[in-house]
Amino acid sequence: MRYGMVIDLNKCIGCQSCVTACIHENDVPYEVGQRTYVNYIVTGEFPNVSIHYMHRICQHCENPPCVHVCPTGASYKREDGIVLIDYDLCIGCKYCMVACPYNARYFHPLRHTPDKCTFCAHRVDKGLKPACVEVCPTNARIFGDLDDPNSEVSKIVKSGKAFPIGAEYGTKPSVFYVRWE
Ligand code: SF4
Ligand code: SF4
Repeated sequence: MRYGMVIDLNKCIGCQSCVTACIHENDVPYEVGQRTYVNYIVTGEFPNVSIHYMHRICQHCENPPCVHVCPTGASYKREDGIVLIDYDLCIGCKYCMVACPYNARYFHPLRHTPDKCTFCAHRVDKGLKPACVEVCPTNARIFGDLDDPNSEVSKIVKSGKAFPIGAEYGTKPSVFYVRWE
């Protein structure tokens, strides 16, 4: 099993429901969620302006540099592919933040450790979807097992419609994007 996510950038309407859900579900500082999770990309000149949305989350890499550099084992990858942080083992050295090529980690101001998207592992372990997937009104985020050929995520990836970002890093992300048309 390898959990993964497909984010269809064409379906995203920029409503930030996923951001709000994540902030509440995972105690993410409001400014961090607003600043990092969904970026607005504006192109063109008025009145011919178009807006696209880009979603920046932890890519739950199969080959995660954040885990490789962690000196205490606090950053780790589960058998199902989800990359997590053991906050009790973390010494706050921030090596993982530097090593992540996606800039997916932030320093939690109250916990005094790095933090990031967890794919809502606490919900997934109860058979629930990640909060962001649950609330998205356009179903722009799809979550499932990339190793299951019958899952929606693996069918989309196999169809060639969705791509990883930063493939050149060699991290083998578990998040795939359907590009803007
Ligand atoms: Fe680690 Fe960054 Fe990959 Fe997430 S995106 S698993 S934080 S290297
Ligand atoms: Fe590991 Fe914590 Fe250091 Fe990151 S900040 S490398 S999780 S000990």
